[in-house]
Amino acid sequence: MINLKTLSKSELVQYVISWKQPTYRASQIWAWMYQKNVTDVDLMTNLPTQLRQKLKSEVWISQANLKTQSESKSDQSTKFLLEVANSESVEAVLMPDGNRNTICLSSQVGCAMNCAFCATGQMGFFRNLPVDGIIDQFLAIKKQFLTTQITNVVFMGMGEPLANYQQVVSAVRILTDPDGIGMSPKRITISTVGLVPRIYQLAREGLGCKLALSLNGTNDKIRAKLMPINHSYPIGQLLSALRSWVEITQTPATIEYVLIKGINDSLTEAEDLCRLLKGLRCKINLIPFNPISGSDLRRPEVSQIEEFRDILTQHHRVAPIRYSKGRDIAAACGQLRTVYEKTGKRLSPNPQKA
Ligand code: SF4
Repeated sequence: MINLKTLSKSELVQYVISWKQPTYRASQIWAWMYQKNVTDVDLMTNLPTQLRQKLKSEVWISQANLKTQSESKSDQSTKFLLEVANSESVEAVLMPDGNRNTICLSSQVGCAMNCAFCATGQMGFFRNLPVDGIIDQFLAIKKQFLTTQITNVVFMGMGEPLANYQQVVSAVRILTDPDGIGMSPKRITISTVGLVPRIYQLAREGLGCKLALSLNGTNDKIRAKLMPINHSYPIGQLLSALRSWVEITQTPATIEYVLIKGINDSLTEAEDLCRLLKGLRCKINLIPFNPISGSDLRRPEVSQIEEFRDILTQHHRVAPIRYSKGRDIAAACGQLRTVYEKTGKRLSPNPQKA
């Protein structure tokens, strides 16, 4: 039995043709799966009975199972631990913010990148998620919040999206297919630690989505300390790749900079950051570090964060301070799964004390 959600649209068309059905049946099935969020073939009422019988005997349609969820009292974000793609536990978050409702998706189970500031990095890498495991996160949240319009998607959950390149690209194609979920690609952001060859590849993929680079250091020594991937792709190579991205896609990049006390938050580093990014069309998201258990890293004082921001602003940089959503519900990626697996139950409000 094949899971229909593992097929691209053109593969589904081929299937339908092999069943001697008109090709528009593929669009109908696609719409049931991705617009109406239906997994029961019997509910696909515009398909002839014979085709439904055929489908039931040859295919199945996956869905995510909710293991636990936790709502933030401070900012209305909700974090989900979902079972997808053959019992893999991954995290996804719904983050309301004014008129925007953003879903943060995971692309891998665990992560091999080992960033020092990240709970997922601490748990290590298990495996890549298939496309259905990615899309089912989105559909599960959509099902729970039927009256909420999902406006944005970010690939900033567990895993490095560009290390699972083909499956993430396939997921973006499903998210943006006008006959399916139908999101604007401009509302989808892929966040990367900077896998340089994949940045060039993604720029030429023609997806139309946005790219965010997790930078976090203004020189290779600091960045490599926080992000081991910097040994393979140092800052100079990264910025060349980003300049190409901007040129090819004609889309500005986003730079993410996690501010960590005493490591990368000095005002000299703010000046260095401006120098480094000179001439690059980008906005800079400043993200005060969200403490994780087992780490000595600390968040800077608010005054330090604001002074850092002010220097960027003086250099005419757009640099909003973005506090992590759901700080009271372990919303930094990887924390919910870690707590759930340690306790095997719903979260306490403060994961550090769980
Ligand atoms: S920050 Fe992202 S890339 Fe780095 S370890 Fe965490 S999940 Fe992996």
